[in-house]
Amino acid sequence: MQTFKETGLQEEILRAITELGYEKPTPIQAETISHLLETEQDLMALAQTGTGKTAAFGLPTLQKVDPKSKDTQVLILAPTRELALQITGDMKNFAKYIKGINVVPVYGGASIENQIKDLRKGAQIVVATPGRAKDLLQRGKLKVQNIKTLVLDEADEMLTMGFKDELDAILAQTPQDKQTLLFSATMSKEVERISKNYMHNPVKISVAAENKGADTVKHIYHMVNAKHRYEVLKRIADMNPDIYGIVFCRTRRETKEVASKLMSDGYNADALHGDLSQAQRDEVMRRFRGKQLQLLVATDVAARGLDVNNLTHVINYNLPDQTEYYTHRSGRTGRAGKEGTSIAIIHTRERNKLKDIERKSGIKFEQKPVPTGEEICSNQMYALTDKIVKMEVNDKQIEPFLEDIYHKFEDLSKEEVIKHFVAAEFNRFLNYYKNAKDINVTESKRDKKSVKERRSNSNFTRLFLNVGKKENLTPLRLIGIINNALDSGNVEIGKIEILNNFSFFEIDSAAAERLAKAIKNQTFEGRDLSVEVANAKPSSNRSGYKKEKRNKKDKKRSKNKGRDRRGGRRRS
Ligand code: AMP
Repeated sequence: MQTFKETGLQEEILRAITELGYEKPTPIQAETISHLLETEQDLMALAQTGTGKTAAFGLPTLQKVDPKSKDTQVLILAPTRELALQITGDMKNFAKYIKGINVVPVYGGASIENQIKDLRKGAQIVVATPGRAKDLLQRGKLKVQNIKTLVLDEADEMLTMGFKDELDAILAQTPQDKQTLLFSATMSKEVERISKNYMHNPVKISVAAENKGADTVKHIYHMVNAKHRYEVLKRIADMNPDIYGIVFCRTRRETKEVASKLMSDGYNADALHGDLSQAQRDEVMRRFRGKQLQLLVATDVAARGLDVNNLTHVINYNLPDQTEYYTHRSGRTGRAGKEGTSIAIIHTRERNKLKDIERKSGIKFEQKPVPTGEEICSNQMYALTDKIVKMEVNDKQIEPFLEDIYHKFEDLSKEEVIKHFVAAEFNRFLNYYKNAKDINVTESKRDKKSVKERRSNSNFTRLFLNVGKKENLTPLRLIGIINNALDSGNVEIGKIEILNNFSFFEIDSAAAERLAKAIKNQTFEGRDLSVEVANAKPSSNRSGYKKEKRNKKDKKRSKNKGRDRRGGRRRS
């Protein structure tokens, strides 16, 4: 493998990265640095955070900057303020020994006036979020007509976050002969579109995530019914009194719900999501970094750029839709040679998703039972007694109170005093877990549960949906519609029946009404969706139901001709 010296980087940069502790190039750096130093060809790289991609584009780009000119020569676009600031910090570190280089970050949620002042001083390298970059361009404060290099970092994320128009507007103003470097964790259609429209014959490279953490991260999963997700999370936190981790949720709403439940249940937890103001985000992150918070409940996007080491756990409250996101999430623990655990809480229908992650990433999950109440209590007990035994006692501080305290305890033996202390601290757990049930669902348990038994679940409401096979509805797509509408992946869904023109499905009764309302604004394959309780009086859009059932019955009858068949009544 090439050394940094052999890549052709200049002395000042080599000195700076040696100080940062970089000894040899990571695979992506080995592939990109020499290439970018030698050519002006565009580059498209499939790479995630943790692969060393910032230095991969940052070092050669920096070397090409002319410090004598104050013009903006490099524009780096990143999806979030945190990532923009992280890149800025890295670029400043890399440029430490090159005189006259100015790196300026510009991002939303902060004073534009101050950023304009910073730009006015001359910034050869500007690191920007797309919205703010567009704004500054329109005001004529950011000038990109002379840039030599454009970097699109986490391009997929920028597009997922809805910055398509901003990117189009910015890219249209950049010069034709610039070099464009695109980095993305996934290669979506939209990313392909950007590369087709704005890049010229790019060299394409792809590197695996370095921080998959295969060696230091244990990947485990607990399988439960969806309604028990939160209970599992609590048990994980209770089983690990020193937990320091991120709980990943799929939506902002779920993030808020889980965090507020944790807080009201007495955990040191808070939420990080896109609805927070910048000041609120900063405050949450400060508390998490300072370990005042033990659990940070976050969406994938909000947690980007949050560089925290020493996490003991990553908890997948819901599995992400993309495999890359799972490796991204789990790579946040098990860093710097420390052990970490990534836990996925899954329900029975998610086994395949887990298998998909295993296949694509090479990770192996181990199924572990959810800790029982008894295990949690004994763990807590040991943690508490350990803490008491190891507690540093400041004699001087407590001396003045001791006489009174001894007096109060005078009628209790040493054993009794210990019992009282433990009970005072510990009753919360004992009470909570005394009747704790086994909430694990094993494959066999699920398989044994007959369809009839599942159907008879009295907590389900059977709903009618006005689309079916004709619209290419499948059970998976139906679950997607439901999860999307409810902004959650937690709702229990029972039997699904997809007919030609419409469908039926069972859903946890508590969510049925909410779903009917939420689904009203949604479309599927161009049709406005509508949901009603299946045993309600059929409305006009269900007029085809009887006909369809009749047709089905007729077909069956002709199939079973000659057989004595007693037709069962449809449950509704
Ligand atoms: P990135 O993928 O750019 O977010 O980088 C992930 C982490 O790896 C950052 O903390 C970098 O400082 C670090 N890093 C990048 N390149 C190297 C290298 N060649 N040697 C050691 N650490 C590196």
